[in-house]
Amino acid sequence: MPSDVWFSPLTDQHDDDDIRAKVGTLFDAAGMAQLLRPRGLVAIKVHFGELDNHNFVKPRLLASLVDRIEQAGGKPFWTDTNTLYLGQRSNAVDHIKLAESHGFTVAATGVPVVIADGLTGRGEVRVPVPGKHSQEVGIAPAVAEAAALVVISHATGHLVAGFGGAIKNLGMGLSSRKGKLYQHSVVKPRVDADICIGCRTCIAWCPTGAITMHGEHAHIDPEACIGCGECLASCQIGAVRFQWRMASRGLQERMAEQAAGVAARLEGRIGYLTFVMDVGKDCDCLASNPADVLIRRAGILASLDPVALDQASLDLIERHLGRPLRAAAYDIDFEPQLQAAEALGLGSREYRLVEVEG
Ligand code: SF4
Ligand code: SF4
Repeated sequence: MPSDVWFSPLTDQHDDDDIRAKVGTLFDAAGMAQLLRPRGLVAIKVHFGELDNHNFVKPRLLASLVDRIEQAGGKPFWTDTNTLYLGQRSNAVDHIKLAESHGFTVAATGVPVVIADGLTGRGEVRVPVPGKHSQEVGIAPAVAEAAALVVISHATGHLVAGFGGAIKNLGMGLSSRKGKLYQHSVVKPRVDADICIGCRTCIAWCPTGAITMHGEHAHIDPEACIGCGECLASCQIGAVRFQWRMASRGLQERMAEQAAGVAARLEGRIGYLTFVMDVGKDCDCLASNPADVLIRRAGILASLDPVALDQASLDLIERHLGRPLRAAAYDIDFEPQLQAAEALGLGSREYRLVEVEG
């Protein structure tokens, strides 16, 4: 049975007012107001954008979403979870400061920021799931306690998962620190000593001290490694390697199981909006160069089904690129996250695209 995905196209002719109007129209078309309860706390899952990232979805574009939630009697808050890697989002204090510097302030939006997994990411609510890898997952408490959830995703390529959209945002983005560690536990990189020039950059980025110098080359201790991927991202000459195919499949399947845990906890109370604009090779956890985007504007999509939404987002991306995302970004198969999510009952890859006016 196909799921409905509502779509509003975007071009360079559309300004911020147009985008705000589109977001409101999509919210209405998808029937998201019906998910809310009067006076209920509504988590709006966003990505605040890492330091020097310019592609994240800006809060000014979500003003009509906030208005709609408040008109329906809900009390919205911006939320995300802390990261495993060392950056500006690895604890709630730095995270909130960064969010504020990117415009997520009460003064500008009327909405406060609540970091969903607490001060250092230790907060967790356990939820049973019928997974292949996990029978229970750890999700962020502020989301587990919310009356409803609206997931704002920015579709991008991804260094490990190949693609990041609604499933990744729901799964990885709302897991506890333990949940993230579990998903990343399959990623075990190694340093190719023939390529490594001993610059030590990866050592500075590794959050666990797993990398040391062995003679003139870096070496990773697999026991200390948590699989966060920072060394992969920080090594500019490609000396850090891992088994993409095996590691990525395992991570994506675990990510879908995490997503199923959040969906089960908030069953019938989650709406999804995905922005296919400023689509980069990498997600918003990395700094970005606006000149490097693969797609500047394609559209905004909404659904109550994250699997259908991701499938529709990918199809839209590939139509705009005129080639597979794997050819334009990372050559990683992202099918496992969609297959696993569908097998878990999170949604359907079959969808009916409904274009909305506005
Ligand atoms: S960043 Fe790359 S080249 Fe530099 S020490 Fe680490 S693995 Fe070697
Ligand atoms: S070795 Fe690499 S993947 Fe492992 S913890 Fe350090 S930075 Fe993360």
